Amino acid sequence: MISNRWNPVPRIIFFILTLGLFTTTLLADEAGAKDSFGFWDVMLMPRVWVGFIFVLAGLWFLNRRMVTKNFRLISLVIIFLTFGVFWLLPLGEFARGMGLHPSPVCAVTKPGLFIKAGRGFPVVFAAVLVTMAVMSLIGKKLFCGWVCPVGAGQELVHGISFGKKRDNRFKIKLPFKITNTIRTLLFITYFIVLIFGGLSIYEYFNPFDFLHWGFPFWATVVMIITLVSGLFIFRPFCYLVCPVGLLSWVLEHFALTRIRLNHETCTDCGICEIKSPCPTIPAIMEEKWSQPDCHACGRCIETCPEGALEFKR
Ligand code: SF4
Ligand code: SF4
Repeated sequence: MISNRWNPVPRIIFFILTLGLFTTTLLADEAGAKDSFGFWDVMLMPRVWVGFIFVLAGLWFLNRRMVTKNFRLISLVIIFLTFGVFWLLPLGEFARGMGLHPSPVCAVTKPGLFIKAGRGFPVVFAAVLVTMAVMSLIGKKLFCGWVCPVGAGQELVHGISFGKKRDNRFKIKLPFKITNTIRTLLFITYFIVLIFGGLSIYEYFNPFDFLHWGFPFWATVVMIITLVSGLFIFRPFCYLVCPVGLLSWVLEHFALTRIRLNHETCTDCGICEIKSPCPTIPAIMEEKWSQPDCHACGRCIETCPEGALEFKR
């Protein structure tokens, strides 16, 4: 028996949310928001449609159980280079269209600054938000797992094993209740500081700033801290800080595709829980509706000797 058999509610919410997000942004665009970019200008940017290609490819690979450890490693390098480095190449408009403006964190946090300054809600931010939201609704965190270069960088360093036995003894799985509380409190603090101080606290710890490759001191420090802690903790910035991580975690509850457990073949051996890097597996085994973030990395699928974990509808 596959868990979570046909349940129409998440699908209905998925379609309502998707349609709602697109329609709201289109209406804002047609209402003539004073923006240098319109909705479709953003949607036709290379990084948006290339991002959708990566998301659909990731979904296809996951669904066909092709994401082995080495496959994932190569995918992460490609994701990092494509969305974090490619725009530096002298390849004209296409390369420029792959740049990180606005970055995922800026797309969430900058609209508040614009609204506070009385400059409205620029459509460019709305379009990027809609893109990330729709990707996260197609499958759990497909944006974070198959597009985001900061996520890819963290997951890459987490794959490095050290110590004499080169096993997982130095890897720490922080309790999700704690990490999600910290991430939520930061988001609440962001709103309070924004309202009373007109600032975004995320400007002080945004590793995406590093990917402009100008090596400013503070962004470099933040990136180093992110990657060094990533050696021990799976995606520390995603679980502890990132506002996109928090919002897409809310959307994950309505995602169309996700990791499913086949109870008929599962022997309860617990190997997937030990070998998976995330804190999500216990909640998947218990079929909890609300689960820790799943970044659609696919590592758990390969770890199961019975093939009981699948990424599907
Ligand atoms: S949570 Fe944030 S940093 Fe992590 S993968 Fe998603 S957007 Fe990127
Ligand atoms: S290992 Fe964790 S994050 Fe990766 S697909 Fe499985 S549940 Fe999701």
